Amino acid sequence: MHELAVTQNILDIVLEHARRAKATKISRIYLVIGELSSFVDESIQFYWDIIAKDTIAEHAQLDFQRVAASFECQECRTVYHLNKETIFCPNCASSRVKILTGEEFYVRAIDVET
Ligand SMILES: [Zn+2]
Repeated sequence: MHELAVTQNILDIVLEHARRAKATKISRIYLVIGELSSFVDESIQFYWDIIAKDTIAEHAQLDFQRVAASFECQECRTVYHLNKETIFCPNCASSRVKILTGEEFYVRAIDVET
């Protein structure tokens, strides 16, 4: 359900940018989504098709860029990527880890026509 809220948020952002750029059409939207965020591309696309209808963003292509999750161990400073078995440090097994990347969710750029 929260995909609807974030999709609405994306629409508000891009319409505001388009208005300032005096655009008549939004052709493409570049989204950055971290691996750890629970947002599903298909759900966002699904809601998009509904809420963007009858706006200048109606036929915009959604471009999803996924960012891999990475962590830094706070004990031994090892930096590593998400693996399937555990999020603990693969070097010292510490659970004191900091998320470096993977929680992103934002609009990176939009293409408009004026
Ligand atoms: Zn460690």
